[in-house]
Amino acid sequence: MSTYKIVLLGEGRVGKTCLCLRYVNNKFSSDQQSTLEATYLEKRLNLGNKSVKLNIWDTAGQERYHALGPIYYRDANGALLVYDITDRDSFTKVRNWVKELRKIIGNKIVLVIAGNKCDLEKYRQVEESEATEYAQSVGAIHIQCSAKTGVNVEQAFLEITKGMMNPPPTAGAGSANVGGTQNNSNNGNDDSNPRAKIHFVEEGQTNGGCC
Ligand code: GDP
Ligand code: MG
Repeated sequence: MSTYKIVLLGEGRVGKTCLCLRYVNNKFSSDQQSTLEATYLEKRLNLGNKSVKLNIWDTAGQERYHALGPIYYRDANGALLVYDITDRDSFTKVRNWVKELRKIIGNKIVLVIAGNKCDLEKYRQVEESEATEYAQSVGAIHIQCSAKTGVNVEQAFLEITKGMMNPPPTAGAGSANVGGTQNNSNNGNDDSNPRAKIHFVEEGQTNGGCC
């Protein structure tokens, strides 16, 4: 079984936690003022004849304090960079993340840019064509999705997984970490790890995280 680490990045409130929980648990709750925020979720899937384990790292809200550093993402095989299609600033933030990841990790990390909340079409501030063009220019895939309706959520994770399983030849050069870790050598999350199912941390009541 190949194991891959995926990190979610993006501004606070764009829907990262909701996307994770939609993907892993197929649930969405907008009214629930939960005090919980997921930090680590695991998903297993079979692609073709290959078994894959995804270790999906959601932030515990650190992005709201600009406190997400390389320790969070540097051993990731893929990043899901999330923005909110109704919030142009959140798209700008994705551009900053791309610059930072390319600078610090280089091309060996697979990037998928997800325009979330596509159910809110009438409030749209970022055109799909602009985001798609931008993604292509930085070697990323762009996908529009909605954690609320579930549309394209699985596809977003599937794209990132396919990318991690089949890294482009150029990206593979000199980067042993590309393509995942067989039998979980260095992502620090094996089956004996007590965090290796779903782990939640308590957050303050006023945080307003939806899930
Ligand atoms: P995070 O800070 O990026 O983890 O964002 P959350 O997952 O906590 O979501 C922030 C807010 O956006 C919550 O109020 C969610 O209910 C809402 N939200 C998340 N995804 C969607 C979506 O696809 N559509 C809509 N309409 N709201 C969403
Ligand atoms: Mg969150």
